[in-house]
Amino acid sequence: MKVKRFRHWAILPKIMTISIVSVAIIAAVVRFYFLPLVERKIMDGKKEGTKNVVEVAFGILAGYDALAKSGQLTEAEARERAAQEVRKLRYKETEYFWITDRALNMVMHPARPELDGTNLGDNKDPQGKYIFREFARVCNEKGSGFVEYLWPKPGERLPVAKISYVKLYAPWGWIVGSGVYVDDVEKDMARLRWNMAVGTIIFAVLTLSLSLFIGISITRLLKNVIGGLQAIASGKGDVDLSKRIATSSIDEIGVLSAEFNGLMDSISSLTVFKKVIEEDDTLDDVYARLGSVFTEELGLGGCVIYEISGSQGKMRPVYPSFPVTGELCCNADILDNHDLCKAKRTGHPISSLTYPRICKQFLAASGKEHFCIPMTVGGGTAGVVQFVFNRSETFTDSRENERRLYKAEQYIKESLSVIEAKRLMNTLRESSLRDPLTGLSNRRYLQEYTEKLVAGAKRRGTLVGLIMCDLDYFKQVNDSYGHNVGDIVLRETANIIRTSVRESDIVVRFGGEEFLVVLFDIRECEAVNVAEKIRDNVQNARIKIPEGVIQKTISLGVSEFPADTNTFWHAIKYADVALYKAKEGGRNRVMRFTREMWTDEHF
Ligand code: GH3
Ligand code: MG
Ligand code: MG
Repeated sequence: MKVKRFRHWAILPKIMTISIVSVAIIAAVVRFYFLPLVERKIMDGKKEGTKNVVEVAFGILAGYDALAKSGQLTEAEARERAAQEVRKLRYKETEYFWITDRALNMVMHPARPELDGTNLGDNKDPQGKYIFREFARVCNEKGSGFVEYLWPKPGERLPVAKISYVKLYAPWGWIVGSGVYVDDVEKDMARLRWNMAVGTIIFAVLTLSLSLFIGISITRLLKNVIGGLQAIASGKGDVDLSKRIATSSIDEIGVLSAEFNGLMDSISSLTVFKKVIEEDDTLDDVYARLGSVFTEELGLGGCVIYEISGSQGKMRPVYPSFPVTGELCCNADILDNHDLCKAKRTGHPISSLTYPRICKQFLAASGKEHFCIPMTVGGGTAGVVQFVFNRSETFTDSRENERRLYKAEQYIKESLSVIEAKRLMNTLRESSLRDPLTGLSNRRYLQEYTEKLVAGAKRRGTLVGLIMCDLDYFKQVNDSYGHNVGDIVLRETANIIRTSVRESDIVVRFGGEEFLVVLFDIRECEAVNVAEKIRDNVQNARIKIPEGVIQKTISLGVSEFPADTNTFWHAIKYADVALYKAKEGGRNRVMRFTREMWTDEHF
């Protein structure tokens, strides 16, 4: 099996391996370095002690020898008294000294007096070591030294490990020695080894459990974070954005968990936000929602959203809806020339916090700062969001302010595609429902909206007036001056009709030079009056054309819904029938539809 390189391992095995190796190294150091060192130290201590006490006994021999030499004692007396004195010497309660001569005859042995006078040259310990020969060898070679062997403790029969220090008192040829039993060292060491083993095991268990615990919490956190990020990155619809990491610690794991949860919070609120605005009906709804997120959720109170119309070079505040433009923080000139707005012109955020008075159009009210973010879509700028704050606010907690602005940018980014789609929809809808020559609504508009309008009128129980208009002898204009002049006349006529009715009425270019006017909530006979007004206005209009001035007349047919018929499209037909009668009657006149004008069963 091929083992992967360590840096490719998963984190948990890495942590566990490092812990196991560390524990093993510590155990090995304890076992092979620390314990032998302790043992050696204890042994050395014991040996040193023994050596020192032997030196004391040695001093006694030397003392009596000196007495003999000075003549105060005979040498025999001196030896006898020295032996007696050393015999009585005890240390550590039971430890004693013995003396042999060089021929290995026991001079004195306090624990085993039966040995006194006997030759011990052949005395062996259970391992076959000639103990006393060994003493003699060490003394002959070095004058003194340590010898290890087995010897029973006083009053016991079983021999145990013992280390003795022996030293030759050369003038008398005596070897004086004493030893310590080291079986207790062995026992102490065994106990120490056992304690260290138990300690090492406890240490290992604690270390490994702690490593396992930390490793698992790190990897679980990472798995959650990785899972969440992968899900977000893959953009699958089934991402569970409500998933959060439970955390209680305040270490890096806790911080990362909290940051991750915060990220998920903002992603999920952004995602929810986007879904909501996608389903919003109008662009103004989207702007209003965006505005309320800035003010209510992010606490960015002074915010203005400007919408930019590329074709007319204008920008218009769409949030909040201002009663007067005087409340704006910018020079009103930008409304007519959007290129004056620096954020629009440059396409990147413009902040007075980065450079004072960065934008000339900002009316630098005292203590106010601005941060303007362009809404850039498809290479163009669809709008600009301006945040205005008090300088004091910004500087007291600039980090918090930055965080809010960053979030605001996220919301803006998220809404851009929706805004673009809705703007495109609006333009398409507008163009598909509008007649390009006159700017009036077209027949499609009539078809799409008629039912709603009619249903409204029916509900209110009010009258809808219908005026069908057709220019008189229009063909002649085309024939005499050409199509272009014909178009001018059509546009002008459309304007006259438009301005002759209320804003709430609908004027439709119904056909080539035919217009239909739909009047809402009228009183009886009012439609005829309006038609008369249109006729009069057209007749009096002096239409400027390249060749000079031209005057035209118009014929109009009037019907009322539901007074004439319950079916709206029939009412339109009736207006057309009345128009036909007006033409027949000599043109430049208004005809009110009457029952007799239409006898057909079929439309
Ligand atoms: P009448 O008084 O009977 O209505 O006479 P008229 O000449 O207005 O009659 P007609 O309906 O036959 O003529 C309509 C003309 O309008 C025919 C067409 O060439 C012209 N026309 C239709 N649409 C346009 C347009 O968009 N521009 C121009 N210049 N002319 C148009
Ligand atoms: Mg005509
Ligand atoms: Mg016509």
